[in-house]
Amino acid sequence: MDNWKENLRDIEPYVPGEQSKEKNIVKINANENPYPPSPEAIKAIREFKSENLRFYPDANATAFKRALAEFYGVLPENIFLGNGSDDVLALCFQAFFNGKKPIAFPDITYSFYPVWCRLFGIPFINYPLKDDFRINVDDYKAENGGVVIPNPNAPTSLGEGKDFINNLMEYNRDCVVIIDEAYVDFGGYSCVELTKKYENLIVTGTFSKSRSLAGLRIGYAIGSRALISTLEAVKNSYNSYTVDSISMAAGTAAIKDRDYFNSTTAKVIATRERVIKELRALDFLPLESQTNFIFTAHKSANMKDYFEWLKSQKVFIRYFDLPRISNYVRVTVGTDAEMDIFLEKTREYLNKRN
Ligand SMILES: *Cc1c(COP(=O)(O)O)cnc(C)c1O
Repeated sequence: MDNWKENLRDIEPYVPGEQSKEKNIVKINANENPYPPSPEAIKAIREFKSENLRFYPDANATAFKRALAEFYGVLPENIFLGNGSDDVLALCFQAFFNGKKPIAFPDITYSFYPVWCRLFGIPFINYPLKDDFRINVDDYKAENGGVVIPNPNAPTSLGEGKDFINNLMEYNRDCVVIIDEAYVDFGGYSCVELTKKYENLIVTGTFSKSRSLAGLRIGYAIGSRALISTLEAVKNSYNSYTVDSISMAAGTAAIKDRDYFNSTTAKVIATRERVIKELRALDFLPLESQTNFIFTAHKSANMKDYFEWLKSQKVFIRYFDLPRISNYVRVTVGTDAEMDIFLEKTREYLNKRN
């Protein structure tokens, strides 16, 4: 009896930031954009002919790929689209990491990577970040089965430059290297240009952070024809349509609206720099961020306690009970008004302790 249970998959999933139903909360826990999507994207959704939903979407996503290709200065054949970059990354893991050697990624990084490795049976090795939470490129000069690095890294918020990527690529000619650029639009270095130099380099991106479209689930990868056609083959082996018609319409409009994109990312960066300065004045130790979030410890306060207290005050930030970072918190950059509430509550917390 109940023997069927033995064949059920026993797996520990990734846990995203809490999506609270509570009203009047300051929600700065999931790295969402505080600003609405581009008015052009909203218009595209409003004007979308719903009766056309009876048709399958364009499996080649021609218009959307063309718009993305133009934005990035590549060809449409260098672009792969998926249902959020998590979908794209999961497909990359399945498509590119089929060897016996372990794939490499940092010990402190996007916590979905080990989850996919376990799901797909991919061996992996973690290289510890340095004490300052930077990535030591020399660690990756090894016989890797693959490499995956978010640049900027999460949750550390630190980014690496062109020399780092070139260096990494020079020593990893025999495996696929994935650079996850989920946060690059907030001041990081994008290595899309290097996909023309290195055929084994794939860059992933998302509309969830810098384009305020997390709810639509749009992600993409940019790389050589060899990599993109392999991704297409893997995707077409289980689902021919991963981007729906509404997402394509809104995504195409969003990517074309460069002014709105430039102004909202600039606003997030300006708010981030202001909040970092204010946090420093309150004895916090924020890292230098190239993302839409701030990763910080405090000279004396306990960050778990601080996180829990803020939550009781309806300010939701993120805390990771993990080795090396258990006394840090991650704070998404919200609007100026939201960050003022966050700072006010933070002062209240610190005063309460004294
Ligand atoms: C948010 C995030 C993603 C994925 O976002 P999607 O919403 O699935 O596009 C990928 N990598 C990192 C590092 C992220 O923080």
